[in-house]
Amino acid sequence: MLDVQGLQAHYGTSQALFNVNLSIGSGQVATLLGRNGMGKTTTINSIMGIVKPSGGSLVFDGAQLKGQASFKIANLGIGLVPEGRQIFPNLSVRENLVATASNHLGQSTPWTLERVFELFPELQTRLTSMGNLLSGGEQQMLAIGRALMTNPKLLILDEATEGLAPLVRKRIWEALDRIRQTGLSILIVDKNLHDLVRLADRHFIIQRGETVWSGTSGELMADEAARGTYLGL
Ligand code: ATP
Repeated sequence: MLDVQGLQAHYGTSQALFNVNLSIGSGQVATLLGRNGMGKTTTINSIMGIVKPSGGSLVFDGAQLKGQASFKIANLGIGLVPEGRQIFPNLSVRENLVATASNHLGQSTPWTLERVFELFPELQTRLTSMGNLLSGGEQQMLAIGRALMTNPKLLILDEATEGLAPLVRKRIWEALDRIRQTGLSILIVDKNLHDLVRLADRHFIIQRGETVWSGTSGELMADEAARGTYLGL
């Protein structure tokens, strides 16, 4: 589904990514882990074409992403739940959900408002509220719902539960588990390893812009040295 090899990226003359490698199979859940400032958001933004990669290869569903505009990458079937959620503040919940909705890839059981409300009933009760009046948890549910409404093949979440209360975090993990059961591929950046190892098939750890470890949840839990060295856990 997604295969990133030797990814490099720069901010001006400063190199942020040196050699990021990761791959996600169809229907798989993968995580991108690493301490603060190691390049997780830069990797995601490079996949989305928000940061222009300066080297390497990024193949999604057979298409090379490198050099493509962000809207084209999104149209290929990648839905992003960005860091900080980036809800449209002056649109209502309903408008946020439908503004970018589409099923141009012709998914057989597309995400609709009804399905999103089934996943997050909280959103239905706030249908006419403006985006900027929602709580952090509601905004995150809305950001996930908005991405699902584009009917992607791959959902990417940057900081899936950052800054959320434990009960809301639990709701997000439950929702991601249900989304996974629909067969959607998911790439998650988050710090809650405990929840991630339950949800994900594979993990990729980056350190200073380079993939330094990859493996299954079982391998990550067994590798105390890797967790200590690369994640401080
Ligand atoms: P965090 O968990 O803190 O969000 P991260 O792993 O997502 O961190 P990035 O935000 O991708 O890391 O940052 C990787 C490196 O790139 C860091 O050294 C950071 O200072 C640098 N960087 C990120 N954004 C920019 C920018 N817009 N301009 C210049 N340097 C940047």
